[in-house]
Amino acid sequence: MSNGKKQSNLEIMRHSASHVMAAAVKELFKDVKFAIGPAIEEGFYYDFDLGNKTFSEDDLKLIEKKMKHIVKQNLKFTKEEVSIKDALKKIEGQPYKLELINDLEKEGNKKVTFYKLGDIFEDLCSGPHVESSGKIGSLKLMKISGAYWRGDENNKMLQRIYGTAFATQKELDEYLKMLAEAEKRDHRKIGKEQELFLIDQTVGLGLPMWFPKGALIWRIMEDFWCQEHLKNGYELVRSPHIGSQALWEKSGHWNFYRESMYSPIEVDGEKYLLKPMNCPFHVTLYKARPHSYRELPLRWAECGTVYRYEKSGELSGLTRVRGFTQDDAHIICSKNQVEDELKRVVDFIVYMLSTFGFKDYNVYLSLRDPKDKKKWAGNDEGWQFTEKVLEKVAKAKKLNYVKEEGEAAFYGPKLDFKIKDCLGREWQCSTLQFDFNLPERFEMSFVNDKGQEEQPYMLHRALFGSFERFIALLIEHYAGVWPVWLAPFQVKVINIGSAHEKYCQAVADKLKAEGIRVELDLVNETVSNKIRKGEKDKIPYILVAGDKELKNKEVAVRKHGQGDLGPQKLDKFIEQIKKEIENKIIN
Ligand SMILES: [Zn+2]
Ligand SMILES: [Zn+2]
Repeated sequence: MSNGKKQSNLEIMRHSASHVMAAAVKELFKDVKFAIGPAIEEGFYYDFDLGNKTFSEDDLKLIEKKMKHIVKQNLKFTKEEVSIKDALKKIEGQPYKLELINDLEKEGNKKVTFYKLGDIFEDLCSGPHVESSGKIGSLKLMKISGAYWRGDENNKMLQRIYGTAFATQKELDEYLKMLAEAEKRDHRKIGKEQELFLIDQTVGLGLPMWFPKGALIWRIMEDFWCQEHLKNGYELVRSPHIGSQALWEKSGHWNFYRESMYSPIEVDGEKYLLKPMNCPFHVTLYKARPHSYRELPLRWAECGTVYRYEKSGELSGLTRVRGFTQDDAHIICSKNQVEDELKRVVDFIVYMLSTFGFKDYNVYLSLRDPKDKKKWAGNDEGWQFTEKVLEKVAKAKKLNYVKEEGEAAFYGPKLDFKIKDCLGREWQCSTLQFDFNLPERFEMSFVNDKGQEEQPYMLHRALFGSFERFIALLIEHYAGVWPVWLAPFQVKVINIGSAHEKYCQAVADKLKAEGIRVELDLVNETVSNKIRKGEKDKIPYILVAGDKELKNKEVAVRKHGQGDLGPQKLDKFIEQIKKEIENKIIN
């Protein structure tokens, strides 16, 4: 299963484990037909055809047990090169291997290689493998799933068993622990439990909808975003969801980005496209009248929903979707303003990420490959200037960045901030990108201090990246325990008995009047049940009131994760929670 790329020791070991799995399956299921068994990012798999039978969870246990036995036997992997004719004899009754050998022959191979595991199993394979099965450290079978032969849905559905292997038991245990933790944090799971969002096939794949609590979190984020942008000298603009195809032809998207765009919509004989980006609208707004250097820099921001095609197999919760809302902004400025603007954006990104609790992110500086013959928009001088100033700012702001030559967009160099999800996968959130393409194509200009027309510099930037993805990362980062300022409900008020209903109602009203988001629970249930429910919903504060609290104008305070904090005067509690909200305290 060699793909020409040099394989790591871990990959070689995992691929070898797939042979061991096939050997174990062969011993347990005599009539099995073998397909392929590569190493993958987190382990390995092998595809089997069991006829009408399917593997059960118990089978998985038996196979794993057998595999461990084979590892213990320390059977040697031995290589044998044979003619196509002999190979065909070896794989009699194995239709998938027959297909593979036929393909190898068509490619001009006269000989093929087999690897034997002791004398219990032999497989068509180009290697490499570990020396013997004893070199496979600790392994575990993970799950069974269906997989079409060669990934083609017109072919037969086979059964795929996934497994993983590590050099040591300790590494395997750590990996399993990480998986268990990740499962608890998975934003799809928590999104369902907390009723935050819904992705429903009847509406369409990759098109999230938001329940009240999720929409509330979004609104809190957007209000904060808006307020901070106004403070930072931005102005807000708005643009429609569709635009004339001619606009997208002019911007170059129709030529260079078409595979990510949806088919045109015809209106009155004219073609329109769902927007994959907001930029051409902002540029058109800029072009509506001439601009003087005195007006620059212009900072125009919009939370704009864009639509991009993603393959259905690549869609995943809120992190990869087909419609999402970018917190977009375009900065249009003169050359001597570029450095200052970059510094401001970097400060803004770092401030925003840390306010939401992200201190751990990776920064990538993407530059062009100067040797690459590929067409880059703009001229050499512009590229040299922007690349230099981007790196200068990254250094001045002490960003621990990784430089990636050849990774720039064709329209300009960029700085990306990536955050890890619960499985350690990196997702791009904040970004800061130069654009030489749109100012050229749309002939953007301003009148400089000498009265001449000059082309401005244009920057695209996003802080969250997209609301959807950022919320997913927040859910996983906090494992659903929202900091008080973001929590849909900040306080839950619980009465002990019916005599305290009125008092609890008054407490809730008072909190609401102070702008605090409250859930009042007067249901006739035991207090411990109601507390348990509040804990399960991860509401930051639970206030309980009975006779004593009513008499003293107090509330008994419980804090999520800390338990009972004892009784407090209501006014004091309000003062303290308001401070916590205002300062956006993160626990
Ligand atoms: Zn192999
Ligand atoms: Zn843009």
